[in-house]
Amino acid sequence: MSDILSDLSAGAQRSRLLDMLNEGGARRVLRAPSPDLGLAEHLPFPFLAIIGQLEMRTALLLTVINPAVGGVLLIGPRGTGKTTCVRSLTDLLPYVEVSTCPEGCLPSDLDDNGDPDVCPECQKKLAAGEPITHLEPVKLVELPLNARLDDVVGGVNERIAVQQGRIRLERGILARADQNLLYIDEVNLLDDILVDAILDAAAQGSYTVRRGAMVGTYRSRFVLIGSMNPEEGRLRPQIMDRFGLRVPVQGLTDLRERYEVYQHVRQYQRNRRRFLSEWAALTAEAREEVTLAREMLKVTELSEQAVEVGLSLVRQLGIDSHRAEYAMFEAARARAASDGRDLADIGDIRAVAPMALRQRRSQFMVDYFERQNAEDDTIQEQIDALVSGDNWEE
Ligand SMILES: [Zn+2]
Repeated sequence: MSDILSDLSAGAQRSRLLDMLNEGGARRVLRAPSPDLGLAEHLPFPFLAIIGQLEMRTALLLTVINPAVGGVLLIGPRGTGKTTCVRSLTDLLPYVEVSTCPEGCLPSDLDDNGDPDVCPECQKKLAAGEPITHLEPVKLVELPLNARLDDVVGGVNERIAVQQGRIRLERGILARADQNLLYIDEVNLLDDILVDAILDAAAQGSYTVRRGAMVGTYRSRFVLIGSMNPEEGRLRPQIMDRFGLRVPVQGLTDLRERYEVYQHVRQYQRNRRRFLSEWAALTAEAREEVTLAREMLKVTELSEQAVEVGLSLVRQLGIDSHRAEYAMFEAARARAASDGRDLADIGDIRAVAPMALRQRRSQFMVDYFERQNAEDDTIQEQIDALVSGDNWEE
């Protein structure tokens, strides 16, 4: 504990997040409770107080460190801590640069010449040396199952329309999720019309709403986190493919661990503030580690061997979706960065491959392509037979 803190204060730039996770969620509760740090209203369960479930916690942290991993789908029965674990991320989320401009301009938006590619208003600000962004913590935005399309994409604000006789377009949940995490519990039960809206926004990074003469376009680049109980229905393949990582979540089998879960939940239920304050220092430390890992990620590359093994694996498993290796390589980089390394190796591929590659194979597509290849062969044979005849010259 004190080693980690002194490492940090000595300016050691090596993230020890992976160590913290592997130590079993840091079961060490601090001796002296820290002072109340002004915790948020709904006081989520502390991430580090979750027992076991290493793969679920690793997957969630990797996607927080590197949003390019493409989100996480948690698959398992009720009562296994999926929602608790997702909500517990709240206290670990890093700060990101958020545009202050309605068009969402960022200083990193560059045109082909490497000059800033921003709106005229922001150009003026940049020229005057004024900031066009500010720092904001990443948020966890939840999409309730009973949301209507207008809640999700935005629409006319009915209250203002009725009270003030003015029509105003309001941005929806998808716009609020921009640069944030979008969490959908029971994602397999979501209306098709909402799934389509989410898939469109995810594909384009923005979406447009039209209501009568009014049009609004909103940025919407979010990390999708979903959870589902497969007993309650299947998930459409299009949205399944959108999740970078998939993690099956089962109840713990170790009885001692189950008892520890019981004790933690009991302490949390009895006095949330107190329980959280006991974990506050460790939580603050982990949040610091997330920030370090995100910095490290900027310079973290894949080793040649890691690329070779990763691509061979995808080929041998017969996976078509290119999202598979994209998620796997980005998760491997995030894992290396969370371990303070600037090179992701085969060990990282081995650790993240199951999360990135499972449930990517479709027997339907395997059969479909086999039939198609057979048909193509037949076409080639027919052409060969025809042109080899006397009447045809090639
Ligand atoms: Zn702008």
